[in-house]
Order: sequence, then C-alpha cells, then structure tokens
Amino acid sequence: MKVLVLNCGSSSLKYQLIDMENETALAKGLCERIGIDGRLKHSPLGKDEYTSDAPMKDHTDAVRLVLDALLDANHGVIKSIDEVNAVGHRVVHGGEHFSASVLITPSVKKAIEECCALAPLHNPPNLIGVNACEKLMPGVPQAAVFDTAFHQTMPPKAYLYSIPYEMYEKYKIRRYGFHGTSHKYVAQRAASLLQKPIEQIKMITCHLGNGASICAVEYGKSVDTSMGFTPLEGLTMGTRSGSLDPAIISFWMEKEHIQAKDVENILNKKSGVLGLSGVSSDFRDIETAKKAGNERAAIALDVFYYKVAKTVGEYAAAMNGADAVVFTAGLGENSAVSRVAICAYLGYLGVSVDPEKNGRRGEEIDISTASAAVRALVIPTNEELMIARDTKQLLES
Ligand code: AMP
Repeated sequence: MKVLVLNCGSSSLKYQLIDMENETALAKGLCERIGIDGRLKHSPLGKDEYTSDAPMKDHTDAVRLVLDALLDANHGVIKSIDEVNAVGHRVVHGGEHFSASVLITPSVKKAIEECCALAPLHNPPNLIGVNACEKLMPGVPQAAVFDTAFHQTMPPKAYLYSIPYEMYEKYKIRRYGFHGTSHKYVAQRAASLLQKPIEQIKMITCHLGNGASICAVEYGKSVDTSMGFTPLEGLTMGTRSGSLDPAIISFWMEKEHIQAKDVENILNKKSGVLGLSGVSSDFRDIETAKKAGNERAAIALDVFYYKVAKTVGEYAAAMNGADAVVFTAGLGENSAVSRVAICAYLGYLGVSVDPEKNGRRGEEIDISTASAAVRALVIPTNEELMIARDTKQLLES
C-alpha cells in the first residue's frame, strides 16, 4: 500500500509518498510560494533532487504538480496514479470533535470547517488540500490526522482555564494542545526502545523545535501538554513568547497605542528566543552567538532551558513520577548542549546523561548513564510516517 501524506500550509505544501510495505518514503518534497509564483522541490528515493519554478496559483495547482512529479518519467517514483491507495492529511485543529484520526466524509469536512475559527491560519489550507485531492484523485480515500487529537484524553482539570465556565460552553475556550502526532509517535517509539508496553510507562515527551511543546504521556495517553487554546501557550519558542501574565497585553496596548491583534502578532512572530536574544529564532545561531560572548543570547537560552525543565517538573508532579524524558524535533534531536543544560535541572528526578551517548546523532537512543533511575531518550520524530500509519489502519479497519 502506498500513502500520500500532505501537509498544506497557507502558501506551502509538504508531501511524502510512503510505501507502507517497508515504511519507506519513495519521494518527499515541498511546494512553496503557492499563490505568489510557485517553486517545487522534489526528492525521489535514489534519484537526483528535482526543482522547478512552475507557477501555482492555488493548492489544486500545487497538488497537480506534485502528482506530475511523482509520475514523471525521469524523477517520478510511480507509473500510475492508481498506485496511490490513500491520502493522509495533517489537519491542525480537530477541536473536541476528534480524538482520533478519521476517514474524510462530508460531515468530517464540516467539522474541520467549524474548527477554522480556532485555527484560522491552519485549518483553511488543510481543507483546501482535501478539496484539491477530491478533485484530482476522485475515489481515492482520504484521512485526516489531527494535531489536537492525541490530547483529547486530557482531563478537565488539565484542559480548563480558570475563567468563567460559560466561556468554555459558549466559545469552547479551553486548552487543546498541539504537536499530538509527534508526541504520540515518539511515545510509541520510546516504549519500543525501553522494551516495555506503553501502558506501563509514564513519560514526558519534549518536542523542541521552532515550535516547542511538552506532553505528559501516562500509560500511552496524553494527560497534559504545554500548548493550549493556540500553539502560543507554554514554552519559550523560536519566535513565540509562550505563557505570560495576560495583564501584560492590555498594559502593552495602552503604552504603545496598538491593538490586541498587533500584540498577538508580536507574541507570535517577534518574541521567544528571537525577541530575547535579538540574534535569531534559530537555536544554532543563538548557540554560536553565546559562544562568541553575546550575553543576550546566553540569557535567551537560559530562559528556554529553565522553562523546559520547570515544565518537565510540573508533569512529573502531574503523573506522580516519570520513567522517561524523551527529546525530539530539531533542537531536541540535534542539540547535545541543550539536552545537557535541561537535564542538569533534572538530577532530583533521577535523570543522568552519559556524555558519549549524548554526542551521537540521528538515531533512537537512550542517552542515560547505566544507573539513571529515569531514562533520558532521544527519538527522531516522524509525523509523516505516523499520518501514513493512521491512514493505513483506517483503510484496513
Ligand atoms: P523544527 O521546528 O523541529 O524543524 O526545528 C527547527 C529548529 O531546530 C531550528 O530552528 C534550530 O533552532 C534547531 N536545530 C536544528 N539543528 C540544530 C542543531 N544541530 N543545534 C541546535 N539547534 C538545532
């Protein structure tokens, strides 16, 4: 079975065609600048990368170009579109409608549409991607895999804000959590690495990339997570502030004579380690600047590490202990210095990192010393594979 995985952003589309016999990506790529001019980067397995500046006026054009690239005589990987058995879509917000992935039907589309108010930047392009596939690949089953679904197991004490309950009833203002596909994937892989059933493990999964969130995974289920109503809550991130005192917003608006939307924009795009350091949103640049003696870069990293460590502590408390702390995503997988800095706060839990193991890259690995009571793991995430697996499972059931 071959599954096409699509992740449609407002002006981009990421894709992978995965052969589920051996879970190999036959091709992966990216369409950028959709609606502006259009650029396709296509990487077929075992062949040279192909790029083209083909115009893409909308997502239907982009999906058409992806299918053309997959079928091309030179850089293609399939002979007929009939070889694609299903399409799996990343959908950011499923609200309270979806606690698992689903095959797409008209009522599912309607529910995704209802969640557009909760994720105005993400859900509309996700839906456009679904419609484009319906048009270009009629009859091919499509599945929706939601970033929020994994966190639907959170109890009310974790998902309710301490505001009038009517705000939840009227507007569904509550914590939803994001990165669920990644947290679920690494939790499953971690259980496999620890050689224990997931139902017997309490773990804290740290997805640390440009966007960052932590999840308390108790016996395989999300019981708390750091992102909330939107992906702005929680940790300090590349450009996002994470949690702050809500009173700051009106204070800031009055002082600068700006609107709430302006503040929200700054909190999303100009804050985090970028805002603190003034250097970059990329942790590599900040680590380099710190080494060169830049004090604000050092402070930005300290704030980030401290917040991650405090959140791990919160979740250890929420689950009355933890068996493992898992690092994933761009920074979590690649930055040995960040893992050391974060784990330095976690000695009280029983975390202890082996420097030699921590120096390795690109593999699923337990980086703990032999005697560590709580294991520290590095698990490269693979959201596309998780989407493909869910899609395959839905087709087979
Ligand atoms: P992601 O959002 O998961 O793609 O992660 C992207 C972020 O990971 C980048 O912005 C970098 O800050 C960070 N990153 C990737 N590789 C490294 C590395 N070798 N060292 C430090 N940070 C890294």
